[in-house]
Amino acid sequence: MKAPAKSSGSSSPAVSTPAPSAVADPGPKPGEREGLDLFALLAEHEHEQVSVYFDPSTGYRGIIAIHSTVLGPALGGTRFWNYQSDRDALIDALRLARGMTYKAAVAGLNLGGGKSVIIGDNRTTRREALFRAHGRHVESLKGRYITAEDVGTGTADMEYIKAETNHVTGLIGRSGDPSPVTAYGVYRGIKACAHYRSGSDSLAGKSVALQGCGSVGYHLARLLVAEGADITCTDIDPQRVKRVVEECGAKAVAPDAIYDVRASIFAPCALGAVINDATVVRLQVEIVAGAANNQLAEDRHGDLLERRGITYAPDYVINGGGLINVNAELHGWAPERARSKAGEIYDTLLRVFEIAREEGIPSYRAADRLAEQRIAAIAKVRRNFV
Ligand code: NAD
Repeated sequence: MKAPAKSSGSSSPAVSTPAPSAVADPGPKPGEREGLDLFALLAEHEHEQVSVYFDPSTGYRGIIAIHSTVLGPALGGTRFWNYQSDRDALIDALRLARGMTYKAAVAGLNLGGGKSVIIGDNRTTRREALFRAHGRHVESLKGRYITAEDVGTGTADMEYIKAETNHVTGLIGRSGDPSPVTAYGVYRGIKACAHYRSGSDSLAGKSVALQGCGSVGYHLARLLVAEGADITCTDIDPQRVKRVVEECGAKAVAPDAIYDVRASIFAPCALGAVINDATVVRLQVEIVAGAANNQLAEDRHGDLLERRGITYAPDYVINGGGLINVNAELHGWAPERARSKAGEIYDTLLRVFEIAREEGIPSYRAADRLAEQRIAAIAKVRRNFV
């Protein structure tokens, strides 16, 4: 079961589309005539609402996709990107928003899933009016959607949005860099994988092949080495490799060689789609567990890992620390509480593996199942009028 769709309205200047389930007879689909297939796309991605807003004074063209608000307000960043077409922009927003619903659900947060995209060149220097237009778009949804940074946007842009709405996170001087919390969650997740494989979650003497020595990779390396793990690392930036080699006693390999490293754990902390046809057969590890988003190029690569006997920690479960950090900002949590919540990723992953075993499905599907179970349970509890 996916998050149930429901209708929603908006009194804003935005064009808000009700969910397809609320439309008795859809009749001709206007979007289809223009090749956009708007309602078909909404149905396919099972969204509650899509809001489209154009501001002629700035040229702002923005889409906000709200996948589900069953668990709480839909949260997800603003991506600023020069999409080839409006359709590409819409599909990206729909896909990313749905991913946020699942990420928040398994993290045990009271947040739904949403995402927004601004179509245009993200290098523009004329940002204030543009982001204030976006802020007005966000405000028009009256808290159903909360935004944050994403590709092409930064903290300064969030401040412009804040001038028009309170429904924004990631502000200057607030929750700050999420990477240490994300890294801690990944570290706890790796321990859960080790426990699942061998009955012991000690990482002493375990070997880890670390791809990406950036913000998360660096903090993760420090946690791993403090527990006595041996690290082999790589990055396309030699300075970042140097830091991990010098501070953590890691061994360095060339970027492409990381897939051939014989190790207990492969920790992808760089890019997406790194588990693909070319790499999945090369891996000589027991566990794949890292921070990168969208690690599987396609679902079937998760099946292939399973078939090879490799334990895969679903990416959106193990890297939930970043979202937990944003949630901490929204609710004014102390840093220690955010860290402790990220630590719960350990138990969540064990539950995912249990579902996988019980139902005979790969772990990436079990993670979806866990998210869907929580959404369905809370939807039932909230059916009555209080
Ligand atoms: P980052 O940009 O600080 O680090 C990524 C590192 O990967 C960089 O050092 C980069 O040089 C390196 N890299 C790029 N291409 C590479 C390649 N082909 N081989 C080896 N290294 C390569 O990013 P980050 O914040 O550390 O995030 C890492 C990953 O985790 C990203 O996929 C991100 O989306 C995901 N993630 C991050 C957070 C967070 O809190 N920062 C939260 C959730 C998910």
